[in-house]
Amino acid sequence: MKIVIIGGGFAGINLAKDLVDIPQAEIILVDRNNYNFFPPLIYQVATGFLEPSSISYPFRKFFKGKKNLNFRLGEFLEVVQNENKIILDNGELFYDYLVFATGAETNYFGMENVKKHAIPMKTLNDAIEMRNKILQNLEKAAIAKDKKERRKLLTVVVAGGGPTGVEVSGMFAEMRKEIIRKEYPELSTTASNIYLVDGGDALLSPMTKASQQDTLEALTKMGVVVKLNTRVKDYDGEKVYFVDGNEIESSNLIWAAGVTASRFKGIPDESYGRGNRLLTNEFNKVISTENIFAIGDTSLMTTDANFPNGHPQVAQVAIQQSKNLAQNFIQLFNKKPMKAFSYNDKGSMAIIGKNKAVVDLPKYHFKGFFAWFVWLFVHLFSLITYRNRLQTFYNWMVAYFAKDQPLRMIIRPNKKSGSMN
Ligand SMILES: Cc1cc2nc3c(=O)[nH]c(=O)nc-3n(C[C@H](O)[C@H](O)[C@H](O)COP(=O)(O)OP(=O)(O)OC[C@H]3O[C@@H](n4cnc5c(N)ncnc54)[C@H](O)[C@@H]3O)c2cc1C
Repeated sequence: MKIVIIGGGFAGINLAKDLVDIPQAEIILVDRNNYNFFPPLIYQVATGFLEPSSISYPFRKFFKGKKNLNFRLGEFLEVVQNENKIILDNGELFYDYLVFATGAETNYFGMENVKKHAIPMKTLNDAIEMRNKILQNLEKAAIAKDKKERRKLLTVVVAGGGPTGVEVSGMFAEMRKEIIRKEYPELSTTASNIYLVDGGDALLSPMTKASQQDTLEALTKMGVVVKLNTRVKDYDGEKVYFVDGNEIESSNLIWAAGVTASRFKGIPDESYGRGNRLLTNEFNKVISTENIFAIGDTSLMTTDANFPNGHPQVAQVAIQQSKNLAQNFIQLFNKKPMKAFSYNDKGSMAIIGKNKAVVDLPKYHFKGFFAWFVWLFVHLFSLITYRNRLQTFYNWMVAYFAKDQPLRMIIRPNKKSGSMN
């Protein structure tokens, strides 16, 4: 049976891993990138605390020697259901079963200027772009004569008070304290502000009230200005405009305010639900299709009794759905009935800064050093290979004891020659 999986993120790579040794499965894994990466840590790449290679790994090396899996680099464009065919930007593929594991994209809520000028936080490319932009703005600030201009270049506005927004603003607060004041003597007298803004009335909205309050207090103590019930309306690259009429001058708007799934040609309108997610039945089969499945962030399943509005778009859901679907394919090969998916919520956590984190387990909340340690441990062991774990562990140790990490190089492709400068 030919199974084509589009997307090699948490959902796609785990599904491929679980099916790769099943003789009846002939797998083709398609991704627009030639590597898998770990989104929960991209903010550390973006702030120069980890190298991109610490949190990413090439698909071909990962599946080296696996005879019934082929990797195909390409952008999925369209499905032709009556021919069991998909069209990529570089050719076509045929399938017996098709699995969408395409995740989600940054949602700018239709604000074109925000899309044009803000810095997104979704992909590894975004993280590298952000690192370059922030470092370049620091260099510009170091030579700026005008005080107001200098302050604008140094001010960071983070939109979105979810885990990413919290983590990245905490990281900036630590960089301001430990790095910028020491490495940029030109800027020692200029005040710089870090704002974290969210349209809702709490940070980390899906977490417990205790975690929300602890996070707010910790960030405020670190000098982050948290503005709740504050929605961004526009951004021209120089000034952030808010719905309530307020404005903040800033050259750095970091956009971590939401995601949306993508619509694909060949999938009927009735198969899409909220946020363009593909509506599925209890086995992750996309409704109104015969042999197409969707797992992870791109799927919306409302049949799980504990999650009638669909599952949260988090890594654990993607991993658990991939495992259930792999088992269901094996059931299918053996002509046995499939098992409905039900999500086992193991809890959630967010890191705020050094020795500071919040953890919500199903019946227990804790914070501080132990929570921080648990966060590090869980994230380290969730990385895909031993190489990634070792590299990240080493970098974290250096950063912990030196309060720094010497990875702040501005590296951009040279447009003329195509080489790196
Ligand atoms: C910055 C950030 C921090 C996060 N932190 C956490 C966290 O701490 N804990 C947590 O549980 N969750 C976190 N999440 C959410 C978590 O990363 C997602 O829930 C998870 O990645 C979903 O897995 P997925 O496989 O569905 O999608 P993804 O992991 O996004 O993978 C989708 C894959 O599909 C590929 N793709 C997409 N479209 C196409 C196309 N048209 N053609 C070819 N390939 C395509 C992409 O290249 C990608 O490899 C975070 C997300 C982000 C962005």
